[in-house]
Amino acid sequence: MKVFIVHAHAEPQSFNGALTRHAKTVLEAAGHEVKISDLYAMNFDPLSDRRNFTSIKNPDYYRQQTEEAYANEVNGFAPDIVAEMEKLEWCDVLIFQFPLWWFSLPAILKGWVDRVFAFGRVYGGGKWYDNGVFQGKKAMLSLTTGGGDSSIKGIYSETGLNGSIHNILFPINHGIFRFVGFDVLPPFIAWGASRASDEKRQAYLEEYQQRLLTIPETQAIAYPSLKDYDENFELKQSASVKQN
Ligand SMILES: Cc1cc2nc3c(=O)[nH]c(=O)nc-3n(C[C@H](O)[C@H](O)[C@H](O)COP(=O)(O)OP(=O)(O)OC[C@H]3O[C@@H](n4cnc5c(N)ncnc54)[C@H](O)[C@@H]3O)c2cc1C
Repeated sequence: MKVFIVHAHAEPQSFNGALTRHAKTVLEAAGHEVKISDLYAMNFDPLSDRRNFTSIKNPDYYRQQTEEAYANEVNGFAPDIVAEMEKLEWCDVLIFQFPLWWFSLPAILKGWVDRVFAFGRVYGGGKWYDNGVFQGKKAMLSLTTGGGDSSIKGIYSETGLNGSIHNILFPINHGIFRFVGFDVLPPFIAWGASRASDEKRQAYLEEYQQRLLTIPETQAIAYPSLKDYDENFELKQSASVKQN
């Protein structure tokens, strides 16, 4: 497998850092190829505007999707974006490694998506969901949380104070990964990484190792397919599939 890890943590000694280093070691030892974008180490610029382009379609009014479509025609993406797009297009498996921040991605990683997932190249023109550009490839979230105990129980459960972790991750898993065609693997979650014992953190590293080495046989989340929706993009009555 060709695995691309987009890593979003400012501290190399963090548990997120340990998870990414461990992933690289374990995957390479098993004969897989790994590329990592360590966003803070790269000083990746997450702001999305005309800096994304060397080309200009409309100098008077900035519409990002218009500029993206044009840049795709004339090779007008800025070099930092092209470098990330090439890694994205190279991989069979995309992994986001991050601490959960405000029930979401850290801004540097959200900015990476905003800039790299460009209209005309990564989505658009009928290329979405099952028909997406990255159909046949896999994507997975690997995250740490501050709250929650050793499993999907308690505060991040359906009836927990924070609500279901699956609902929290739906905008990323479905709205980003699935939207552009990836098969989305269940997330790997190291719960309460800062408060966990060293033994627990060791166990998380081993659990993650297992998750990585069994990616080829791991079932993707069973999202409905496009054919399960009617002409108004409403789930058909006949479709009995879960949405997250
Ligand atoms: C802006 C912000 C928003 C947040 N929002 C949320 C939220 O919405 N929901 C939520 O649940 N949490 C939230 N948090 C908490 C955050 O998710 C956690 O602090 C984070 O996930 C912990 O992961 P870490 O890698 O930063 O841990 P660290 O604190 O860096 O690491 C944990 C421990 O692991 C140790 N460690 C490092 N390497 C190893 C190794 N190889 N083996 C064993 N131990 C090791 C480290 O030394 C450290 O003691 C938020 C935090 C911030 C700053």
